Amino acid sequence: MAEINRAIKGTGDVLPKDSYRWQYVEKVMLDTARLYGFREIRVPVFEHTEVFSRNVGDTTDVVQKEMYTFDDKGGRSITLRPELTAGVVRSSIEHGLIYEALPEKVCYIGGCYRYEKPQAGRLREFHQFGIECIGAASPAADAEVISVANQVLRTIGIEKISLEINSIGCPTCRKEYQKALKDYFNANIEELCDTCKDRLTRNPMRILDCKSPVCSKLSENAPKVIDFLCDDCKEHFEGVKAHLDAAGLKYTVNPQIVRGLDYYTRTVFEFVSGDIGAQSTVCGGGRYDGLVAQMGGSNTPALGFGMGIERLLLLLENQKTELPADSKCDLYIAPMGEKAAVKATQLATKLRFDGFEVATDVCGRGLKAQMKFADKIGAKFNIVLGDNELETNKAIIKNMTTGDTKEIELDSISDELMSLINRMALENLTDSVFNNN
Ligand code: ATP
Ligand code: MG
Repeated sequence: MAEINRAIKGTGDVLPKDSYRWQYVEKVMLDTARLYGFREIRVPVFEHTEVFSRNVGDTTDVVQKEMYTFDDKGGRSITLRPELTAGVVRSSIEHGLIYEALPEKVCYIGGCYRYEKPQAGRLREFHQFGIECIGAASPAADAEVISVANQVLRTIGIEKISLEINSIGCPTCRKEYQKALKDYFNANIEELCDTCKDRLTRNPMRILDCKSPVCSKLSENAPKVIDFLCDDCKEHFEGVKAHLDAAGLKYTVNPQIVRGLDYYTRTVFEFVSGDIGAQSTVCGGGRYDGLVAQMGGSNTPALGFGMGIERLLLLLENQKTELPADSKCDLYIAPMGEKAAVKATQLATKLRFDGFEVATDVCGRGLKAQMKFADKIGAKFNIVLGDNELETNKAIIKNMTTGDTKEIELDSISDELMSLINRMALENLTDSVFNNN
């Protein structure tokens, strides 16, 4: 019974004391994406199962083991999105965005659902920020997309994170490569895990992404896709590196990166940090030049990335990165008695329209309990309204940190509060300058 009173395993709540951190990083994400011309798109949390099963790849972990799939009451097979790219591409085709002047640049923030073994940084409901750049084939697009992720991470203040890139080629060069991989793993078939034995015939590249220790050890010495690239793919990859250099991004080429989803072609990349344990990839993405056509659109090159917000916040915590603090209540109005409470409602409403964060009593409590509450919410100033204040239309405004008081006219409370808050901000600034020197 107790279980139903708890959030489902692998899901979590963001409590009011923490939500400002989410709001802050989400704002940086959308603002940064905007600088590069990416506009927000919102797509449904669930789609027809085929949107994912056909396009993410039926030999991937995501499709084989991790999807939340169910029949709805109309008997349709529905899946909670494990990622957003497939839904975004579905939407772009459905609404003809891919037939407008390209590239179509979109970004999103949304929940994803994967039935995984929950642990730090690995959840069953998690959230991704992502972007997709649809209709751009040139290496400049790859560098631009990677730059968005980089600028988001830098703006939020993440240090110690590295960019790893690779090219996994196109279907042409991959034929040769798949053959070489099969030969290599066939020679070691006994050591592979059961899933990988199956992958060996269906999609040997998936083995390189296997998390089991034996398979990943074997993968280290496997043939590298980068040695099998055709001339066009090679040239593209050189172009990507040149543009990344021009953008001032440092990267290492990691031939092990193949990514967990089947639709990738050519460039793949990850931002990796050693500071969040095994779940070290904060952001992953790449090119998926075949996906739009595969989903029924015209032949349209495209690329994008997904960034895990929970992992990013975990990293911020572990790197002890300070985010701008949450805002605090500017003024607490403490009425004594019903008449004063009505006046408090009038004042509070006006002040809120003027843009101040204001709280007043909504519990009918006495002064002492009200002050305790004002303390808890960290109110910067308070005023007490009683019969006397109503009669004179004046009140004492009190700085709750210093105890300083000032008598003010209630009619000019907005101007008074503004100048007191400005002065407080200035004093805090001066303090911090002194303390730093
Ligand atoms: P991993 O190899 O860690 O399983 P993935 O390759 O499955 O990651 P993607 O599908 O590329 O991940 O998703 C992009 C990003 O979303 C990841 O880099 C990660 O930050 C985040 N992410 C993926 N799965 C989860 C999860 N179960 N819980 C939290 N974040 C996740
Ligand atoms: Mg995964």
